[in-house]
Amino acid sequence: MATTTPAVSEATSETATEAVDPRSARAKVSDLEVVEHYFNWAWDELGLRDDLRPVFWEPYREVSVQIPVKMADGHTEVYHGYRIQHNGARGPYKGGVRFHHEVDNDEVRALASMMTWKTAIAGVPFGGAKGGVNAPAGELGSGELQQIARSYMGKIYKVLGPNRDIPAPDINTNAQVMAWMMDEYGKLMGHTPAIVTGKPISLEGSYGRDAATGRGCVFMYREAALKVGLIPKETTFVVQGFGNVGSWAARIMQQLGATMVGVSDALGAIRSEAGIDAEALHKHLTEDGGRLDDFPGAEPVAAGDFYEIPCDVFFPAALGGMIHKDNADLMQCKMIVEGANNPTTFEADEILEDKGVYIVPDLMANAGGVVCSYFEWVQNMQHFRWDEREVNDKLGSVMRRAYREVANRAEEEQLGLRKTAFKIAIERVVDASRTRGYID
Ligand code: NAD
Repeated sequence: MATTTPAVSEATSETATEAVDPRSARAKVSDLEVVEHYFNWAWDELGLRDDLRPVFWEPYREVSVQIPVKMADGHTEVYHGYRIQHNGARGPYKGGVRFHHEVDNDEVRALASMMTWKTAIAGVPFGGAKGGVNAPAGELGSGELQQIARSYMGKIYKVLGPNRDIPAPDINTNAQVMAWMMDEYGKLMGHTPAIVTGKPISLEGSYGRDAATGRGCVFMYREAALKVGLIPKETTFVVQGFGNVGSWAARIMQQLGATMVGVSDALGAIRSEAGIDAEALHKHLTEDGGRLDDFPGAEPVAAGDFYEIPCDVFFPAALGGMIHKDNADLMQCKMIVEGANNPTTFEADEILEDKGVYIVPDLMANAGGVVCSYFEWVQNMQHFRWDEREVNDKLGSVMRRAYREVANRAEEEQLGLRKTAFKIAIERVVDASRTRGYID
């Protein structure tokens, strides 16, 4: 199974030209089709009125802007930025901003819709939005990234505001990018820390925010482990995508005594039955200038073979559409905890359900980020900082409550967690809209 072939497929690499391994390519079905599938299923199941369906499926507002960037070599590159506000019935719009060459309107629409359902499941008083710029962030220098962040904010700021729409980090955007965006907004509107979350601690960020999505995944794992019969110290796990979400989930799982037996990023994948030290790997990548596939003590594995690594828990924490009909059947795990957004297509979901794999879906599993963003926003509004223990304790209670609410109803209705979560989320958003008088 182990091989030294490159661990990234053409579909996820800008440079590869060789034949694509269908197991590791991203799904042909789009993120938008996947979310629409579950939305429609739940809408029908709840017996809601057909004439109201578009009110809750279509985004409320879509903004698309041009972002010209003066590149380091002097030429100008024109990128495109999006901010899509899906539904604000339950509060200000909330959702991350992604910098990735594959970003387009449909992807951002799907992610914005997911935010509406996610905030409803978590029970935080926000609606759903998402943003993105189709820039190849990995290839850009800090100066170029800063230009993109500032230009993007400068062009969309009129639809944002601490009581209107509050962006946050996502793929290839971090605390530094949020600081640039906050600063740009401040130049136009006056200093407003609550305009973005996921900021650095030195600029009114929240303790615990950086780790919150990964930590939230681990809270979900712990709840689900009780159901599936897994003990943390004996649990083996695999992480796909070792960025913010994946590396924190891995490090916190390791603190519980679990063993990481496989891990990948955009450039490669490695495995080791004896275990890969998540802390040491994080240091290797972030401080020592190493690459994932030259990490000592683990063997490289091809991207397609990666799915076959036997483990108890698989954490997808990279892009959408990574688990699909061409690889789902190969997976040898008992549980999937979806750190990434939309990692699993509906076809794969069915295959995995038939195999008896317990899936904690994205709209529950990765809600830790938006929950902690809510805490950051509350702290900013109060100009009062909580300590890290308080943040993590509160995060734990929200995640546990969300899990139990969905899991209890799933048991009553004999449904999977994903379908149940969509039903509960839609009920909550429809109820808020009706109570406001937005619909009859
Ligand atoms: P990130 O940019 O910090 O990390 C992404 C990781 O995925 C990187 O290690 C990258 O190398 C890897 N990757 C990219 N393509 C890959 C491929 N083809 N195979 C394997 N790995 C690949 O981003 P992040 O913030 O950790 O976000 C990861 C996922 O989690 C996304 O789906 C995002 O929407 C979701 N998410 C993030 C947050 C958050 O708070 N950051 C919250 C909720 C959901």
